[in-house]
Amino acid sequence: MTPSKTDLEELLRSATPLPWRVEVDKPMTPPVDGATLRLYGDRVPFRSTVDARLAAEAVNALPALLAERKRLREALEEIRRVQGKVCDQFEICHHRACESSFSSWAIADTTLRSLLAEQEATDEQR
Ligand SMILES: [Zn+2]
Repeated sequence: MTPSKTDLEELLRSATPLPWRVEVDKPMTPPVDGATLRLYGDRVPFRSTVDARLAAEAVNALPALLAERKRLREALEEIRRVQGKVCDQFEICHHRACESSFSSWAIADTTLRSLLAEQEATDEQR
């Protein structure tokens, strides 16, 4: 069963504060519990059971979250592609429908630009 977003948010709030790190410097060395999360092959020492539950639930939820993210992005891209062009003066027009359509387009455009900027920042950190 996929955990609800609320369940994941509560686990995330209760777990060790982010960011977590994965360090594999000496495989087979007995894990040392500390300030960071370490992975040694199959052995995953966690600071708490909450951390362990969060890791498992997050991985289990990831396919559905990624699928949802894809659907939402596609919806925003469709809005940006087809909205905001009710009349030729839609950018300055005060028709309620034109303003609403342009506002929807602007929300989609701003959100997609923000997502792209976040993705580029994440890519640069890697
Ligand atoms: Zn108009």
